[in-house]
Amino acid sequence: MTQKILYIDLDNALVNVQSGIDRLTNAEYCRYEKRLDEAPGIYARMEPLPGAIEAFCTLSRSFDTYILSTAPWGNASAWQNKLEWVHEYLGAEEGTPAYQRLILSHHKHLNRGEFLVDDRSAIGADRFEGELIQFLTPDFPDWATVTRYLLERAEDDTVASPRRFSHA
Ligand SMILES: [Mg+2]
Repeated sequence: MTQKILYIDLDNALVNVQSGIDRLTNAEYCRYEKRLDEAPGIYARMEPLPGAIEAFCTLSRSFDTYILSTAPWGNASAWQNKLEWVHEYLGAEEGTPAYQRLILSHHKHLNRGEFLVDDRSAIGADRFEGELIQFLTPDFPDWATVTRYLLERAEDDTVASPRRFSHA
Protein backbone atom coordinates (compact mmCIF):
# COMPACT_ATOMS: atom_id res chain seq x y z
CA MET A 1 0.00 0.00 0.00
CA THR A 2 1.24 3.46 -0.90
CA GLN A 3 1.99 5.53 2.14
CA LYS A 4 0.32 8.90 2.55
CA ILE A 5 2.54 11.94 2.09
CA LEU A 6 3.35 13.91 5.24
CA TYR A 7 5.26 17.20 5.39
CA ILE A 8 6.74 18.54 8.60
CA ASP A 9 7.93 22.11 9.11
CA LEU A 10 11.24 22.92 10.81
CA ASP A 11 10.97 26.23 12.69
CA ASN A 12 8.79 25.86 15.79
CA ALA A 13 7.77 22.38 14.68
CA LEU A 14 10.91 20.22 14.77
CA VAL A 15 13.20 23.11 15.72
CA ASN A 16 13.21 25.22 18.89
CA VAL A 17 13.79 28.66 17.36
CA GLN A 18 14.09 30.37 20.74
CA SER A 19 17.10 28.17 21.59
CA GLY A 20 19.00 29.82 18.72
CA ILE A 21 17.93 33.31 19.72
CA ASP A 22 19.10 32.62 23.26
CA ARG A 23 22.58 31.78 21.97
CA LEU A 24 23.15 35.02 20.07
CA THR A 25 25.74 37.30 21.57
CA ASN A 26 24.52 40.64 22.88
CA ALA A 27 26.20 42.34 19.94
CA GLU A 28 24.46 40.06 17.44
CA TYR A 29 21.15 40.55 19.18
CA CYS A 30 21.41 44.36 19.03
CA ARG A 31 22.54 44.37 15.41
CA TYR A 32 19.78 42.03 14.17
CA GLU A 33 17.09 42.85 16.72
CA LYS A 34 14.40 43.63 14.16
CA ARG A 35 15.36 40.71 11.88
CA LEU A 36 16.80 37.98 14.07
CA ASP A 37 16.30 35.35 11.38
CA GLU A 38 19.01 37.08 9.38
CA ALA A 39 21.70 36.78 12.07
CA PRO A 40 24.48 34.71 10.48
CA GLY A 41 24.62 31.20 11.87
CA ILE A 42 21.54 31.53 14.07
CA TYR A 43 20.00 28.37 12.60
CA ALA A 44 23.11 26.36 13.49
CA ARG A 45 22.51 27.08 17.19
CA MET A 46 18.96 25.77 17.43
CA GLU A 47 17.96 22.58 19.22
CA PRO A 48 15.05 20.24 18.52
CA LEU A 49 11.75 20.74 20.33
CA PRO A 50 10.90 18.06 22.92
CA GLY A 51 9.91 14.78 21.29
CA ALA A 52 10.38 16.12 17.76
CA ILE A 53 13.14 13.80 16.60
CA GLU A 54 11.46 10.71 18.05
CA ALA A 55 8.17 11.74 16.42
CA PHE A 56 9.82 12.24 13.03
CA CYS A 57 11.42 8.80 13.19
CA THR A 58 8.16 7.16 14.25
CA LEU A 59 6.05 8.92 11.63
CA SER A 60 8.56 8.27 8.85
CA ARG A 61 7.87 4.55 9.26
CA SER A 62 4.15 4.98 8.57
CA PHE A 63 4.14 7.93 6.16
CA ASP A 64 6.09 9.09 3.13
CA THR A 65 7.58 11.87 5.23
CA TYR A 66 9.39 15.05 4.13
CA ILE A 67 10.64 18.19 5.83
CA LEU A 68 9.02 21.28 4.28
CA SER A 69 10.57 24.49 5.55
CA THR A 70 11.44 27.98 4.42
CA ALA A 71 14.82 29.64 4.79
CA PRO A 72 15.07 33.43 4.95
CA TRP A 73 15.84 34.97 1.56
CA GLY A 74 18.24 37.42 3.19
CA ASN A 75 20.26 34.85 5.13
CA ALA A 76 22.23 32.42 2.97
CA SER A 77 23.72 30.77 6.07
CA ALA A 78 20.22 29.61 7.01
CA TRP A 79 19.98 27.50 3.86
CA GLN A 80 23.23 25.75 4.73
CA ASN A 81 22.49 25.54 8.45
CA LYS A 82 19.14 23.84 7.85
CA LEU A 83 20.75 21.03 5.88
CA GLU A 84 23.44 20.70 8.55
CA TRP A 85 20.78 20.63 11.26
CA VAL A 86 19.01 17.76 9.54
CA HIS A 87 22.32 15.91 9.18
CA GLU A 88 23.11 16.40 12.85
CA TYR A 89 19.77 15.43 14.36
CA LEU A 90 18.28 13.03 11.81
CA GLY A 91 21.38 11.69 10.09
CA ALA A 92 23.23 12.33 6.84
CA GLU A 93 23.59 8.81 5.50
CA GLU A 94 21.39 6.92 3.09
CA GLY A 95 18.77 5.03 5.08
CA THR A 96 18.34 7.74 7.72
CA PRO A 97 14.74 9.01 8.01
CA ALA A 98 15.25 12.43 6.39
CA TYR A 99 17.78 11.37 3.75
CA GLN A 100 17.26 13.65 0.70
CA ARG A 101 13.89 14.66 2.12
CA LEU A 102 14.56 18.30 2.96
CA ILE A 103 12.49 20.75 0.89
CA LEU A 104 13.10 24.49 1.34
CA SER A 105 10.32 26.49 -0.27
CA HIS A 106 8.52 29.82 -0.15
CA HIS A 107 5.48 28.14 -1.78
CA LYS A 108 4.34 25.32 0.48
CA HIS A 109 1.00 24.98 -1.32
CA LEU A 110 2.80 23.62 -4.40
CA ASN A 111 3.72 20.42 -2.58
CA ARG A 112 1.00 17.84 -2.94
CA GLY A 113 0.17 15.43 -0.16
CA GLU A 114 -2.20 14.50 2.63
CA PHE A 115 -0.80 16.21 5.74
CA LEU A 116 1.31 19.21 6.69
CA VAL A 117 2.40 19.83 10.28
CA ASP A 118 3.24 23.52 10.58
CA ASP A 119 3.04 26.14 13.32
CA ARG A 120 1.97 28.83 10.87
CA SER A 121 -0.48 29.17 8.02
CA ALA A 122 1.80 31.53 6.06
CA ILE A 123 4.00 30.88 3.02
CA GLY A 124 1.31 28.82 1.33
CA ALA A 125 0.54 26.49 4.26
CA ASP A 126 -3.03 27.87 4.35
CA ARG A 127 -3.46 26.86 0.70
CA PHE A 128 -2.01 23.36 1.12
CA GLU A 129 -4.37 20.89 -0.58
CA GLY A 130 -4.24 18.36 2.26
CA GLU A 131 -4.89 18.81 5.95
CA LEU A 132 -2.92 21.47 7.82
CA ILE A 133 -2.17 20.31 11.34
CA GLN A 134 -1.36 23.53 13.11
CA PHE A 135 1.33 22.79 15.65
CA LEU A 136 1.50 24.50 19.07
CA THR A 137 -2.25 25.18 19.07
CA PRO A 138 -4.70 23.84 21.72
CA ASP A 139 -5.61 20.87 19.49
CA PHE A 140 -1.98 19.99 18.72
CA PRO A 141 0.15 21.28 21.60
CA ASP A 142 2.96 18.73 21.38
CA TRP A 143 4.45 15.87 19.37
CA ALA A 144 2.76 13.13 21.38
CA THR A 145 -0.64 14.52 20.36
CA VAL A 146 0.33 15.00 16.72
CA THR A 147 1.87 11.53 16.45
CA ARG A 148 -1.22 9.87 17.94
CA TYR A 149 -3.52 11.83 15.61
CA LEU A 150 -1.50 10.98 12.51
CA LEU A 151 -0.93 7.31 13.24
CA GLU A 152 -4.71 6.87 13.48
CA ARG A 153 -4.92 8.22 9.95
CA ALA A 154 -1.91 6.50 8.40
CA GLU A 155 -3.86 3.71 6.78
CA ASP A 156 -7.47 4.66 7.40
CA ASP A 157 -9.03 6.20 4.29
CA THR A 158 -12.28 7.02 6.09
CA VAL A 159 -10.62 9.73 8.17
CA ALA A 160 -8.27 11.05 5.50
CA SER A 161 -8.50 14.60 4.29
CA PRO A 162 -11.50 15.14 1.99
CA ARG A 163 -9.17 16.82 -0.48
CA ARG A 164 -6.83 13.89 -0.61
CA PHE A 165 -5.10 13.29 -3.93
CA SER A 166 -6.18 10.07 -5.56
CA HIS A 167 -4.08 8.24 -8.07
CA ALA A 168 -5.63 6.23 -10.86
MG1 LIG B 1 7.46 27.18 11.36
